[in-house]
Formats: sequence, structure tokens, C-alpha cells
Amino acid sequence: MADVIILGAGMVGVGAALALQGRGKDVVIVDRGKPAGETSYGNAGIIQMEAVEPYAMPTDLGSIAEIALKITNDVEWRFGSVMSQTRALWDYYRLSHPKSHRQIARTWSQLIRRSTADHEGYIAASQSEALIRREGFYLAYRKQDSMKKGVAEAERLHRDYGVKSTVLDAAALMAAEPALKPGFLGAVHWTESWTCASPGMLTEAYARLFQERGGSILTGNAHTLCPDGSGWQVDTKDGLVSAPRVVICLGPWSPEFLARFGYRVPMIKKRGYHQHFTGGGLKLPIMDKANGAVLAPMKDGLRITTGAELTGVDAGQKLNQIRRAERGAREVLDLGDPVEPKPWHGARPCMPDMLPVVGEAPNHKGIWLNFGHGHQGFTLGPTTGNLLADAMDGQSDQVMEAVSPRRLV
Ligand SMILES: Cc1cc2nc3c(=O)[nH]c(=O)nc-3n(C[C@H](O)[C@H](O)[C@H](O)COP(=O)(O)OP(=O)(O)OC[C@H]3O[C@@H](n4cnc5c(N)ncnc54)[C@H](O)[C@@H]3O)c2cc1C
Repeated sequence: MADVIILGAGMVGVGAALALQGRGKDVVIVDRGKPAGETSYGNAGIIQMEAVEPYAMPTDLGSIAEIALKITNDVEWRFGSVMSQTRALWDYYRLSHPKSHRQIARTWSQLIRRSTADHEGYIAASQSEALIRREGFYLAYRKQDSMKKGVAEAERLHRDYGVKSTVLDAAALMAAEPALKPGFLGAVHWTESWTCASPGMLTEAYARLFQERGGSILTGNAHTLCPDGSGWQVDTKDGLVSAPRVVICLGPWSPEFLARFGYRVPMIKKRGYHQHFTGGGLKLPIMDKANGAVLAPMKDGLRITTGAELTGVDAGQKLNQIRRAERGAREVLDLGDPVEPKPWHGARPCMPDMLPVVGEAPNHKGIWLNFGHGHQGFTLGPTTGNLLADAMDGQSDQVMEAVSPRRLV
């Protein structure tokens, strides 16, 4: 019998497994596929030290109109999907107002500001140094008023949270990134964030580290979880595994899994797409503000990732966001050809209150939850892993209270 079973081998599950193993626990991870086969593979690979405030829903009329009329490329939506989650979207809107958002950011920023330190030890121990760039990334602007607002925002984040950045004009940005053609007016360079040349490979390297340290990763379906005496058991290809405690790290699949246990999890799943291109030549990722896309140099090519699409998990692909992002990228880069015939898509698991859910399930002893990391799960996996391990050791503080699953009932 193991001490803990982790369901889900994305960055969040692997981060939790390493943290618990570090406290001397015998841990088994169970996933239906290979580690990092889903969202933790397909993201933009930024360890976002600058993201001290979680992504809020715009609450001003101008931005709402841009979303409703599909003028912005940041958000795409489908009518049926919006109608099926009006309550969750209403809560997200309500909690995005400045007063609530500031309060949520107090908790969120404490997690984000630990993130690079929490990755550091695993990067070294898993010999993943070659995947990591510690030089930040650029938030680049094409319009003067947008850049002015962005610079003011960077100054505010420095004042309020100590986030460091520098401002580059067009010439300085092009000197830093010689592959760029004219098009951007300048950029905020977030200097403290780290970027990764393959988020999937990094998560896999952390999973290998977990195995080298004595952990097991087994193939099985989380839905086979059932009570086993005073604990829990899961069926895997290698037979039944049981443990007194199980942690649900199923990312966007967590709500469907927990419905069987009577929990209604109001998660908003924000789909994102990516596609790689043979050209690019960037040294660091660029977030293209005007096109709501990230252009990230990766092992597999220049990865273009999109903003959020509100749609069902099983809905077919709608390619207008990624194609607009591609057109925008072609204006400033020699992009070359697509590497894959078809874009990848996955879903950001976002809670309406913008905080992850970490702690013991309110009505089930031994079931622990760790999901809902939204736009920053690649950043936060190791950090919420430590938080979970602390909570399992019986510790409690203001951050743990704020992320507690008790808010689900
Ligand atoms: C386009 C895009 C760009 C992003 N960019 C960034 C970024 O730059 N920085 C950042 O920090 N975050 C980013 N994110 C968000 C980040 O990728 C996610 O928050 C994070 O990957 C979530 O990790 P996870 O481990 O919770 O989920 P996942 O990585 O999806 O892992 C869940 C695991 O559960 C397993 N699973 C599901 N159902 C079952 C079952 N029934 N039985 C067994 N196993 C099951 C899956 O196989 C999977 O391995 C981005 C997301 C997207 C979509």
C-alpha cells in the first residue's frame, strides 16, 4: 500500500508528487496516458513571475463590447457554451471587479512570487537546465495608447508587488530580437519570468526525477477510484493500487470526475490552441498584445498560442483565433511553414474566483484536491504541490484558507 495516490500526471500532479515524496511519502501517480500528455504539454511555457494578478474578466463596457462583437482576438466564444455556464461566468464577472480582484490577488501573488524558486531545485535535479531561459519575455504593443496603458500597468505592478520590468522602444526591441520586422512600437520586458523551450519535456523530466527518487507512474483510469477499507483504491494496468489518501490533479477533467462524488465544480474551461512553424528566429517569447497571442521559440519550432475560447471540451476546432494570430505573426516574422497539419488544442482549468482548489475534499476523508490553476498551472504546479504537502501535514495559514475546497459546498 502506498501513502498517497496522485490522479493526473500534468505539471500539477507531478509537482504534488515530488513535494509529497520530498516529505518522505510513498507516492504513486496514475494517469490514463503518459505524463504531460495534455495541457501541460501544449502551453506557452512561461513561468510567469509577472502574473501577480490572475486573469480577470474585463468589466468595462468597451472591452465587453469588443468580446461580444468578436473584435478582440483575446476571447472567442460560442453561444451554447456561454449559455451552459452563465452562473460560473457571472461569478467570474462579479469577482473580476477591482475590489474583489485586488483581494484575490493578495493570495494569488503570494503563490506566483514563489514559483521560480519552487521550480529551481527540480530544474537542477532533473538536469533540465538546457530547456530554461532566465531572461524574461516581451509584452509587445502595436498601438500607442495600448503601449501607454501597458507601461503604466507595469509601473503599478512594480509599486504594488515589486514586479521588475524594463520598457523598450521599437529600435531597442528590434536590437534585442533581430529576427523581427517593423511592426511593434515597443514592449514591456518582464525580466523576472522564466521561459521553457518545451513545457512537455520539462514536465516529463520532473516525472522521471520522481521515478528516479523511487516513485511509480502507472497507467489507469481515475474513474475506477473507489473506497478500500479506510482508504481508496484505483485499478491500473499493473493491478489495484491503494492508499489512505488520493489527490485529484485532473486539470480540466476534475469537475466531471468529482460529479460522481456529489461535488458541483463551476470550472470555466478556456480552450487555447497552438501550432508550430518552421521559421521565427526569436530568442525569447513575445506576447503580441494586439493579436492576443504568444509567439514562443520552442524545441519543435516557433509555437503560436492563442487566448481563450469558451467552448465545450469535445467541440470541434474553430481556427479563426489561431489563424488571426498567425497572420499577425507573419507581419513581424518570417514564420515559414506549419510543422503540424492541424493545431493542438487544450483547456485552461479556470475557477470563477480565479484561485486553484487545494486541500481536502469537504465531504470525503482522504480525497484531496489540487486543480483549477487557470492560465498559470505550468508556473504553479511545484508551488501548489508544496502547499498541498503542507496542508496534508496539518499546517494552515491564510493562503491555504483562501484556496480551500470548502468553498465548493
Ligand atoms: C494555450 C495555452 C497556453 C498556456 N500558457 C501557459 C503559460 O505560459 N504558463 C503557465 O503557467 N500556464 C499556461 N497555461 C496553463 C497551463 O497549461 C495549465 O494550467 C496546466 O497545464 C494545468 O496542469 P494540470 O496538471 O492541472 O492539467 P493537465 O496538464 O491537463 O493534466 C491533467 C492530467 O489528467 C489526466 N487525466 C484526465 N482524465 C483522466 C482519467 N479519467 N484518468 C486518468 N488520468 C486522467 C490527463 O491525461 C492529464 O495528464 C496555458 C494553457 C493553454 C491552453
